[in-house]
Amino acid sequence: MSQHLPSPLSARLLSKQAMLWLNDNAGSAPVPPQPAPSDIESARARLQRCRGLLAKLFPQLAGNGGAIESPLLPLASLQQAQGSDAAREGMWLLKADHALPVAGSIKARGGFHEVLALAESIAQRHGLLDEAGDRAALASPAARECFSHHAVMVGSTGNLGMSIGLIAAALGFRAVVHMSVDAKAWKKERLRRHGVQVVEHAGDYAQAVAAGRSAALADPTTHFVDDEHSLELFLGYATAARELADQLQQAGRMVDAAHPLFVYLPCGVGGAPGGIALGLKTLFGEHVHCFFAEPAAAPCMLVQLAAGLGAPVSVYDIGLDNRTEADGLAVGLASPLVSPLMASLLSGVFTVEDRQLFAALLSLFEAEGIELEPSAAAGLPGPAWICRSETGRAYLDRNGLGHLLANATHVVWSTGGSLVPAAEHVRFRAEGRRLRGDAQPE
Ligand SMILES: *Cc1c(COP(=O)(O)O)cnc(C)c1O
Repeated sequence: MSQHLPSPLSARLLSKQAMLWLNDNAGSAPVPPQPAPSDIESARARLQRCRGLLAKLFPQLAGNGGAIESPLLPLASLQQAQGSDAAREGMWLLKADHALPVAGSIKARGGFHEVLALAESIAQRHGLLDEAGDRAALASPAARECFSHHAVMVGSTGNLGMSIGLIAAALGFRAVVHMSVDAKAWKKERLRRHGVQVVEHAGDYAQAVAAGRSAALADPTTHFVDDEHSLELFLGYATAARELADQLQQAGRMVDAAHPLFVYLPCGVGGAPGGIALGLKTLFGEHVHCFFAEPAAAPCMLVQLAAGLGAPVSVYDIGLDNRTEADGLAVGLASPLVSPLMASLLSGVFTVEDRQLFAALLSLFEAEGIELEPSAAAGLPGPAWICRSETGRAYLDRNGLGHLLANATHVVWSTGGSLVPAAEHVRFRAEGRRLRGDAQPE
């Protein structure tokens, strides 16, 4: 048995049964220096000033002025269908990043931010940027010509490649996406159709990233978007916190000592949920409680935080195989940039078995008519873990929240699916029905 974790935890993880793990270090003093609130505000300002540019690059954004934002949706029907009474357990809401425009996943936030930052910096070096002016100038023929001499490269299981590939190609960069062969075929096709070069690798996600990184290092005109280390990605994700705060306020949901906010975020390498968690902590402090959702076969953040930050520990090190239908979350080792930041601010992690992902996406479709990819449904079991499980109740008691649950807001973050072909969604639901034991197909 593994030396890295206490043996009861390790045995529990190896059983691959869903579990809720609480982070005993939550609330301790942060160890590494955290990105400053002003860094997150700068990232938000970049996305704001690039709205005109984005509206020019992507006709589907013209209607909303180039905003890369998602709605906050009610989940009243799902909550009722699952037997949760909002008057006792608080209100469930869905932060619908599966519907983010253009890229169709949460990766639009981080990915677009990083490529826009790169485009601004190259344009500035070449005297093509009017500092005070509209970034729409970055869609000019001169800027495109300039970008065509640069490449943007990324290693990705799918959605990050989609986000980076689409925006990089739209700006005129040479876009190259390194993927593992098991990444979904339709994602590769879609990228190729948009002029992105897709390079396939036999190994897992981490090997695709490593291959992309070494190819890019050899060439100074190539920028590598590093999912495991990038601060620009992380800050792009963090901007979602202010967006959510504004939407909660508009919806009349208070967040304070008497009104706790619980947020359930699917976690792969950790950048997206980590950025958002940091952003939310910056705004709401101890009044927000962030939980990550990870596949039972790939709980990389849980494993790293439970093992301590002394050395990298992967899911393979404890005997798990990283094999899951949640391709967006199939990551063996957590980001070394993000895991130290989460050590003091993450409340806990729950794991999700593949069959629960299909059950969750089916329930959401049946109650609300919303279609998610399996990875994106991982957060849905969150409220039940907190309100109903023994470990969840222990968390509430420990934090003096038990009597405040009626005032709580539970935000489940959905992370991808609106670009998934209809036939795939039908297959996902069929799998959910099969696992539920339905006699009839849809
Ligand atoms: C990438 C991704 C996540 C998690 O983001 P990380 O930065 O890898 O932790 C969650 N859901 C979907 C659908 C994703 O594509």
